[in-house]
This record gives sequence, structure tokens and C-alpha cells, in this order.
Amino acid sequence: MSTTTEFERSLREAQLRVTRPRVAVLGAVRDHPHADTESIIRAVRSDLGEVSHQAVYDVLRVLTDAGLVRRIQPSGSVARYESQLADNHHHLVCRSCSVIVDVECAVGAAPCLTAADDRGFTIDEAEVVYWGLCPDCTTQNT
Ligand SMILES: [Zn+2]
Ligand SMILES: [Zn+2]
Repeated sequence: MSTTTEFERSLREAQLRVTRPRVAVLGAVRDHPHADTESIIRAVRSDLGEVSHQAVYDVLRVLTDAGLVRRIQPSGSVARYESQLADNHHHLVCRSCSVIVDVECAVGAAPCLTAADDRGFTIDEAEVVYWGLCPDCTTQNT
């Protein structure tokens, strides 16, 4: 099955109409994990030709709301997007160069952390960002 067919199926399963921009954005997000909106727009344009910023923003919002794309936004960073893998993975973020790397969930299933006091909430997810310096930046600083 081609990836395009796969994306079309995901859209239909999410009750979304299949459009070329939606398929192109899904492809761009999958090919460029943790890409910011500008990088996704560039990737979509190389695929479809001229597409407006607004069109790509709109598609990203629809796909995020539908749960096909996961939006992550570490504080101080622009929003980044990745395919929704439903694996509850976490992120390592470098304070110096802002690179984002996936790291497996601490215990394998959501929520992987137990709050000391859940205050009556039913918790289904824990979002963790580990901040620090990536190996490249650590080397440069020494
Ligand atoms: Zn770095
Ligand atoms: Zn990730």
C-alpha cells in the first residue's frame, strides 16, 4: 500500500475529507518529525507547488484536532508537529540549539507518571519535556 493511500485512509477514519493539501501535510509531518510550521510549508510546497501559509496552518489545526498530528510546543520554542503515534513518547530538548529528540515513555504506557496527588482528576496522559544540552552542544561548550 502506498503511503498516499495510507494517509487517505487515516483521513477517512478520522471522518475528514481527503484533499491534496491534507495528504501533503501528513506526508511532510511524517518525513520531518518535530518540524516547525515554516519547514512543513516548505515541504508541502515542494510537493504541491504554491500553497498559502494560511492553508497549511488550517490543515495543521484540523489534523491536530482530529488526533492525526501531535503538536508539541516546549516553552520558548515555536510549535512543532509530528505524526501521532499514540506511544506516549516524551521529548528531550536542547537549551542551546533547540533540537528535539524522542525518548521513550518512562514505563511504556500512558500515563507513565503518577501524580503524588491527582486532586480528583482522572489522569490519562503525562507530558514530559527533559531539558538539557545535546551531545553536540555539550562538546562545543567544553
Ligand atoms: Zn544542542
Ligand atoms: Zn516526538
